[in-house]
Amino acid sequence: MSRPIYLDCHATTPMDPRVLEAMLPYFTERFGNPSSITHAYGWEAEAAVKTARQTIADAINATPEEIVFTSGATEANNLAIKGVAEAYFSQGKHIITVQTEHRAVLDPCKYLQTLGFEITYLPVSHEGLIDLAQLEQAIRPDTILVSVMAANNEIGVLQPLTEIGAICRKHKVLFHTDAAQAIAKIPLDVKTMNIDLMSLTAHKVYGPKGIGALYVRRRNPRVRLAAQIHGGGQEKGFRSGTLYTPQIVGFAKAVELGLGEMESESVRQLKLREQLWNILSKIEDIRLNGHRTKRLPGNLNVSVERVDGSALLLGLQPIVALSSGSACSTTSTAPSHVLTALGHSRELAYGSLRLGIGRFNTAAEIEKVGKEAIATICALRQANSQNNQITCS
Ligand SMILES: *Cc1c(COP(=O)(O)O)cnc(C)c1O
Repeated sequence: MSRPIYLDCHATTPMDPRVLEAMLPYFTERFGNPSSITHAYGWEAEAAVKTARQTIADAINATPEEIVFTSGATEANNLAIKGVAEAYFSQGKHIITVQTEHRAVLDPCKYLQTLGFEITYLPVSHEGLIDLAQLEQAIRPDTILVSVMAANNEIGVLQPLTEIGAICRKHKVLFHTDAAQAIAKIPLDVKTMNIDLMSLTAHKVYGPKGIGALYVRRRNPRVRLAAQIHGGGQEKGFRSGTLYTPQIVGFAKAVELGLGEMESESVRQLKLREQLWNILSKIEDIRLNGHRTKRLPGNLNVSVERVDGSALLLGLQPIVALSSGSACSTTSTAPSHVLTALGHSRELAYGSLRLGIGRFNTAAEIEKVGKEAIATICALRQANSQNNQITCS
């Protein structure tokens, strides 16, 4: 039995073998602690971290001093949001974010509400985009932070970072973006986009799990941040703990490979997505979730009417690995908060498929998934009712 086709690249991606190869020496012979300054073992680990830090900084047009390594984007989001809240609360206790953010942004915000902070959760259009005028209106004299994600992990929608950055700069409010899904997939530039804080992770770009970073602007303005993990004072005191050299090396290799192949991969994945949508759109009463074009090239998210979502996922399980929403919310029975923010009913939100196409997917796989999805949906609908007219071609 072959394993199902993997189309869940928004949950995580397979690690690229070239990344593993770069990491391997740092598990064994080059095992030193990068903070050990008295011997060669420390120096070689420190040199590897330094190179990696430069690569990651270059990828977003930052400087190496502005990169703080964390365990991933969840920690980076927590550090950005709680760290800013704690450092700036004397200036204000208002934060603006969006209803469709990842829970690693929403939950720190909810937590801050229990401490007396006020949070504005901006709505989105039916296509998943925020309204820039609404954002600007929401900014108050006591607003200290705006947090808007770069690319959505369910519907792939790309928010207008440059425009958001300009608004935040105009009102002198810090701008944080969760770019976990965006790094090395779309161009990111913290200078031209006026981004003050940016969360990154390696495992969505064919790197290892358990490593990420927070970019923290050091000039114009210098962002102040309260550490959330205290200890040995690593990462300029922003984040204590011995640096995980192999993961950091792998993170940088993944980013380097991703950037090198970004243009060609965007074109290729976009073609695969169009191929898949061309097949799926023949199904009656199926709709695309999220903006038609302002989305990650490898993302497709569809809602299928008159089909039980869990039955659909179950039917497809032997063929294709995918999900109906965020991997982090699959344990809960609530419908996707992203799809309900688009205005979907609970039923429609349940009957949805998130298809994340990645580096290792082929046209033959897409063809097979498309055919199987049509067959499964037809079978489920026929079981439900004999009267429905279904286009099964
Ligand atoms: C995956 C993801 C996260 C969490 O990242 P981890 O590195 O797994 O902690 C946060 N935000 C978004 C948008 C994501 O897709």
